[in-house]
Amino acid sequence: MRIILLGPPGAGKGTQAKSISNKFFIPHISTGDIFRKNITEKTPLGIEAKKHIDKGHLVPDKLTIDIIKDRLNNEDCKNGFLLDGYPRTVNQGEALKTLLDEQGSSLDIALLIKVPREFILSRMTGRRVCLTCGASYHVTFNPPKAAGKCNVCGCDLVQRADDTEDTVNERIDIYEAQTQPLIKYYDDKNLLSAVDGTQAIDSVFESIYSILESIKK
Ligand code: ADP
Ligand code: AMP
Repeated sequence: MRIILLGPPGAGKGTQAKSISNKFFIPHISTGDIFRKNITEKTPLGIEAKKHIDKGHLVPDKLTIDIIKDRLNNEDCKNGFLLDGYPRTVNQGEALKTLLDEQGSSLDIALLIKVPREFILSRMTGRRVCLTCGASYHVTFNPPKAAGKCNVCGCDLVQRADDTEDTVNERIDIYEAQTQPLIKYYDDKNLLSAVDGTQAIDSVFESIYSILESIKK
C-alpha cells in the first residue's frame, strides 16, 4: 500500500504512522525525522534545514523533493510506503505524482487526521520525542513507561526545539496556507479519507485500520 498522512502539526501523524507501519509492514518515512537526523549529525542538509525548521517555516521544496525521490527509490519501498509529513505543498504533491508515474505506480490513499486548532498547542508543547528511533510521546496523553526514556529503544526523550508556543502558532498558520490545499487536491483525485483525530490514540488507530483494511489489495 502507498499511503500519505495529512493533518496539522500535532494531529498524531507520527504516532499513528508507527502503528500503521508495524501492522501493514510498510516503511514509515517522515521527512521531519530525516531532517532531525541530519541536524543531529550536522550534515550540510541538516545545517540548511535547521535555519527553516527553527523558525517554524517549511524547508524549501527543492531540498525536500530531492530527499523523497532518493528515499522512495530504495528497495524497501517497492511494495509500499507510508509518508508522514510529505507532501506539505501542492508542488510537493505534484512532484510525488511525477515520481510515482515514472515508477508505474500510484498512491492508494491520502489519510487526513482531522484535529481542530484548539487541540494542537497542548499536544505539541507536551510532546517528547526519541531522536534515535523517532517515537513520539506526550507527558500527559501518552507518557512513556519510564519517565524521559523511550519505550522502544530506551534512549533519552527530548522536547523538540520547534515545539515552543510561538513556533507552533507559526507552523499552524503555514499549515493552513500551504498544506491545507492538498486536502482538496487529493479529494479531487478521489484519494482522500478522513478520521477524527480528537479521539484517543487507540480509537484513531481503529478508525484508520478499518479504512486501510477496506482498500487493501
Ligand atoms: P504529528 O506527527 O502529526 O506532528 P505526533 O504524532 O507527534 O503529531 O503527536 C503530537 C503529540 O500529540 C504527541 O505528544 C503525541 O503523543 C500526542 N498525541 C498524538 N495523538 C494523540 C491523541 N489521539 N490524543 C492525545 N494526544 C495525542
Ligand atoms: P514534522 O516532524 O513533520 O513536524 O516536521 C518538522 C519540520 O520539518 C517542519 O515544521 C518543517 O520545517 C520541516 N519539514 C518536514 N517535512 C517537510 C516538508 N515535506 N516540506 C517542508 N518542510 C518540511
